[in-house]
Amino acid sequence: MARYTGAVCRQCRREGQKLFLKGERCYSEKCALSRRGYAPGQHGQSRKKVSEYGLQLREKQKTRRFYGVLEGQFAKYFEMAERKPGITGENLLSILECRFDNVVYRAGFASSRKEARQLVRHNHFVINGKKANIPSILIKQGDVIAVSESSKTSDKIKAVVEANSAKPVPKWLDCNKEQMTVTVVELPKREDIDLDVAEHLIVELYSK
Ligand code: SF4
Repeated sequence: MARYTGAVCRQCRREGQKLFLKGERCYSEKCALSRRGYAPGQHGQSRKKVSEYGLQLREKQKTRRFYGVLEGQFAKYFEMAERKPGITGENLLSILECRFDNVVYRAGFASSRKEARQLVRHNHFVINGKKANIPSILIKQGDVIAVSESSKTSDKIKAVVEANSAKPVPKWLDCNKEQMTVTVVELPKREDIDLDVAEHLIVELYSK
């Protein structure tokens, strides 16, 4: 499974926004964006006029990086969003939010999407009682995600769930931390998604 393996904090610095890619560190003073709030590289601190294309590109990259999705898969999600009724940009965010790894993260079963992806890959979760280890599975309304029986006693899983127990869970998910389950009560709407992005610019970019 292809994934980004470069320096993570550079991505936040490039987008000028916290993308919360490193779990606890993102909320601490050690956050690279708090310490060096400018773009990485030799010309990171110079002011540049950004073109219309540049603005659209940044919004797309920010969204892609936030969810940890590579270029090809992101383009596929966009095609899916276009085919669905409604506003394409909002459909796109809703689809990304429904990724299995994102739901695990949102439910507080992982401190970052990256960690959620790793836990999913290592068979720590089931969907509707069935084994599932593909982070890109799109979750549907009514689906129940649970920590697998064999992982419920794992010290690692218990520690992760405990560490994230205070994290707020979005209202489209009904999480039972004791049972280690989360139910998708409804699909996420735009107002449920806390990503500061102008999604219409992504639509404009792909419409060229
Ligand atoms: Fe981004 Fe987290 Fe790194 Fe801060 S610590 S720059 S929020 S990944």
